[in-house]
Amino acid sequence: MAMNDGSEGSLGGAATKREDVSDGQARNGANMANCINIQAMCYGDVGLLLSIPGQGLGNSAISAVANPEQLKRFSKSWAAMAITEPNCGSDSSAITTSARKEGDFYVLNGEKIYVTSGERANAVVVWATLDKAIGKAAIKSFVVEKGTPGMEVVRLEKKMGIRASDTAAIVFTECKVPAENLLGSPDIDIKKGFGGVMETFDNTRPFVASMANGVAEAALERTKQLLEDKINLDYRTPINNVKSVEADLYRLEAEYEAARLLTLKAAWMADNRKPNSLDASICKAKAGRITNQLTLKCVDLCSSWIFI
Ligand SMILES: Cc1cc2nc3c(=O)[nH]c(=O)nc-3n(C[C@H](O)[C@H](O)[C@H](O)COP(=O)(O)OP(=O)(O)OC[C@H]3O[C@@H](n4cnc5c(N)ncnc54)[C@H](O)[C@@H]3O)c2cc1C
Repeated sequence: MAMNDGSEGSLGGAATKREDVSDGQARNGANMANCINIQAMCYGDVGLLLSIPGQGLGNSAISAVANPEQLKRFSKSWAAMAITEPNCGSDSSAITTSARKEGDFYVLNGEKIYVTSGERANAVVVWATLDKAIGKAAIKSFVVEKGTPGMEVVRLEKKMGIRASDTAAIVFTECKVPAENLLGSPDIDIKKGFGGVMETFDNTRPFVASMANGVAEAALERTKQLLEDKINLDYRTPINNVKSVEADLYRLEAEYEAARLLTLKAAWMADNRKPNSLDASICKAKAGRITNQLTLKCVDLCSSWIFI
């Protein structure tokens, strides 16, 4: 599995180096391998995967948009990813963290929240705008190394889950980063919009979906184990002739499989250099939602049926 061998960098590092498919053969490559690997590591809990050094989403950003020199320079970094701000979440084009060019540096100002591994990682890939008035095209990503003056972790969230992994709020105050830490091209290409930075997501979304799939898989299997003597899933009896708990489990299985297959499809498309922005988005949205509903339903089924 190409997960974290240093040269490849990370959870996303290997996968974002899309392989040469010029021979026209379909293949299952690094994206597929990563998805399967991540799902297995996240069986029942995503904390382990998120806590392993080098597995940062920022590494995926580096691999997706960095030039060869940057790829080499940051190959050993464990990079977190900082997009979300107090006033912007789902709509990442609305970020207000700014980057101002000053000689050989960019000066960052703003606040990022919910940065996974923001404290432990040794670098953070920060999304900032060169000119808010221009819109999405002016959004660029910058590698800010730990210890850079002006970058301060101001809070660690107290969470109910994923407690093995830190989730940080980071403030940037006149934080000077070398100009060569801007990932990709510094030019503002209105036509491309923020296609450059968004390419990161085409690769990371199936990975995040795989994390959810690992949690869902474990919840489903554990529920079936706990209810073993109450259910008989023979897959032959029509659904209207089975117990309600069995019907519920069939439905959950179908939902889980749908999420898993969508995820593998998006990864396969990435491996075969097919544009997958839509599929990557759908699989992440679907897997997250299904896992949420599925785990809640499993708790519900166990609490209702175990003691019957
Ligand atoms: C454990 C954890 C780790 C995280 N790690 C990172 C990280 O490493 N880096 C990072 O940058 N961020 C991270 N995040 C932040 C995460 O990406 C955001 O929470 C996410 O982008 C959603 O933003 P929000 O919380 O502001 O919700 P909102 O954007 O305010 O959304 C709230 C609700 O409204 C819905 N909604 C939003 N917009 C629309 C719309 N236009 N139409 C219909 N419904 C809509 C959403 O689906 C959601 O249900 C993390 C979050 C968590 C919980």
